[in-house]
Amino acid sequence: MQYLPLFVKLTDKPVLIVGGGSVALRKAGTLLSAGARLTVVAPDFAEEFIQWQHEGKAQLINGYFAPELLDGKLLVIAATDNDAVNAAVYDAASARNMLVNTVDDQPKCGFIFPSIIDRSPILIAISSFGTAPVLARRLREKLEALLPQHLGPLAQLVGRFRDQVKAQIHGFAARRQFWEQVFDSDVVRDVQANQLQSAEQRLHTMLEQPQSQAGEVYVVGAGPGDPELLTLKALQLMQQADVVVYDYLVSPQIMELVRRDAERICVGKKAGDHSVPQQDTNQLLIDLALAGKKVCRLKGGDPFIFGRGGEEIQALLPHNIAFQVVPGVTAAAGCAAYAGIPLTHRDYAQSVQFVTGHCRPDGSEPDWHSMSKSNQTLVIYMGLIKAAHIQQQLISAGRSASTPIAIIENGSRPEQRIVTGTLAQLASLINQHQLGSPALLVIGEVVSLQQDLHWFGQRPQTAVFSQSITQME
Ligand code: SAH
Repeated sequence: MQYLPLFVKLTDKPVLIVGGGSVALRKAGTLLSAGARLTVVAPDFAEEFIQWQHEGKAQLINGYFAPELLDGKLLVIAATDNDAVNAAVYDAASARNMLVNTVDDQPKCGFIFPSIIDRSPILIAISSFGTAPVLARRLREKLEALLPQHLGPLAQLVGRFRDQVKAQIHGFAARRQFWEQVFDSDVVRDVQANQLQSAEQRLHTMLEQPQSQAGEVYVVGAGPGDPELLTLKALQLMQQADVVVYDYLVSPQIMELVRRDAERICVGKKAGDHSVPQQDTNQLLIDLALAGKKVCRLKGGDPFIFGRGGEEIQALLPHNIAFQVVPGVTAAAGCAAYAGIPLTHRDYAQSVQFVTGHCRPDGSEPDWHSMSKSNQTLVIYMGLIKAAHIQQQLISAGRSASTPIAIIENGSRPEQRIVTGTLAQLASLINQHQLGSPALLVIGEVVSLQQDLHWFGQRPQTAVFSQSITQME
């Protein structure tokens, strides 16, 4: 973090602006809206400055900057069109450890003016610190559009209730639960409809008859890793939950979007490493929900596709714990899209099977024959370790050794890697390229389209098909 965002109370605080032109004017306007007491020094002043002086909002000094003018000021802004003057202001202010902003000269800024989205009392400040102002502006436009105008009145309303809520509801967690209920209630709708009295009445009622909050479990699919593949609902529930129980497939970028003060419990690590037994995870969810918590059980991909979401919900049933399920983009769909492999391109495949590479609990083999027919796509989850066995079984059951295959590691993430080749090369490619978890195997004619449809990340490392096929066959 190059700068720390702070919100500074400037009401009646002395601020010096050096410069009287249009740039200085812009800064002065912002500072006045925060209630600062302005002293402006310049040989000439724009019209508005004179007006502000008449209105008692600014004291103008007709002349040139001198370090004594910094005496007793909290902040200083160097806004002249003369670099030497700006530098002199910067040096003098820095020598006194004062915070100085030199307009359009970021290295000479001890503080900066961010773009502001104003829904007072809610304020959002954005800055790229001069590196990408257009990007910051676009972000601001997006947020402006996203944030409803009624946020300000809503925040004002709840602000008036804060002390009362503090006095009546004890404990931070209980108060937060109360406010969550308020923001999910018709209070918000009333404020939106500008019916502030009704909103206030409702809040009174909620405070007089607080509902004890029942716990709930949200079983949420987080997709394959790219945070933009989250559903809106997943994001909402991640923001609402008191506790997030997640496993290794959930990418750090996605965990960033969890509510800051939510508790985070990791229950799953990579295959082979220690992870919490399923039984214990089930019990954890039950205990948390029975303690009245909103629990977000965040899982990679889709919770019902090789995700044990069903088992976890079954465990909740005897305890009458409420639950919701939010689907996610499963690895097969996410990785195929980001690798440019249309799983059922109609010229190549009439069906697609999602298969687990893990052994069945009873040790029996899957139906290799049905998986070995051509013109169908196989997507194998958790297939890295058993790749040699999968390759050998499919080929002996009749799938051509030259069938195109792709191994997609970290699909949809910045570090995505794809290796393509033939079925006969599957296991050796995994070794050769040291592919690790999470990785998905895609087997089928559709993989050949990948060369043309690639669009995301590094171009795949491709084994030389035809030569090796001839050698193998
Ligand atoms: N519920 C998840 C799958 C869990 S099983 C889903 O619907 O996607 C775990 C396996 O999913 C991993 O071993 C790997 O085969 C696959 N997987 C999940 N995310 C992946 C990713 N980003 N890239 C490649 N494979 C992934």
